[in-house]
Amino acid sequence: MDSFTLGYYQPAHPRLVININKHPENINVFALNSPYRIVMDFMFQQAKNHGKPHNVFFKRPKLQLTTNNIFEQLGLSIHTIMIDPGHGGHDPGAKYHGIMEKDINLKMARILGYILSKHGFNVLYTRTKDKYLTLQERTQMANLLHADLFISIHCNANPKRYINGLEIYYLNFTKNKEAIRIAARENASVNKKISDLRFILADLLINSKINESADFARILNTSLKNYLRRHYPGFRNNGVKKAPFYVLLGTQMPSILIELAYLSNSKDRHLLTNPNFLSRIAYGILKGIQNYQKQIQIYAWKE
Ligand SMILES: [Zn+2]
Repeated sequence: MDSFTLGYYQPAHPRLVININKHPENINVFALNSPYRIVMDFMFQQAKNHGKPHNVFFKRPKLQLTTNNIFEQLGLSIHTIMIDPGHGGHDPGAKYHGIMEKDINLKMARILGYILSKHGFNVLYTRTKDKYLTLQERTQMANLLHADLFISIHCNANPKRYINGLEIYYLNFTKNKEAIRIAARENASVNKKISDLRFILADLLINSKINESADFARILNTSLKNYLRRHYPGFRNNGVKKAPFYVLLGTQMPSILIELAYLSNSKDRHLLTNPNFLSRIAYGILKGIQNYQKQIQIYAWKE
């Protein structure tokens, strides 16, 4: 940044002018609470990804065979995973028969974090307590701490109680009414309508990791489906879907949102309160991350 000046455009309208000597690829401006502040992210081409794995889909990495771990040198290793247990504090998420989504999400996050760290990953959490965080704060935490993957954990709900199963979402436009309904439910804590989101989305889609997130979602879902089929053959997998989830907006790494199962369905609800089921899901996610890591390394060598 070269310089900035603060002046008064009109008596009640202060104006901040920022002079920068390079054209940013993307600018993201938003407000955060406690303390109140305005955060501006200027994203430039070289500084943006810190050599992280998501580069490999677009650029041929330069091979310099000088260290023992070539994948690490190429930035093709996944080190840091940000786990985001959805909702918290005054926002319980879905609620059925006294069971609150925010509590299941946190339990799942803890089990997943434990298993991932046991397998060598650096695990970060957006929250480890029953605490409210805005959706933007969650995304920004992942960006500021340079996470390689972002996984937001949720439980689904539907007025039609027979609907059940697991879904994995990545961020994109969709015309699917059910996916829009689920995104609107998960976006409820943000005072923005899906129609407002379309404009923000259009702006951010150019620079976001949609292709990488879609790849990650598909690989994760296949691994999870194969793993869960062996242990819970009756459990339904509804596959990978796209929807405009606010919490996935602006993340600079492959990001997905997993809806573990339906709290509104009695069989699913029973599973969600069973720690063995949550552990099985965590192992399925671990396998998915390991397979995704293998896949990005294969892509890099094939290019
Ligand atoms: Zn949720």
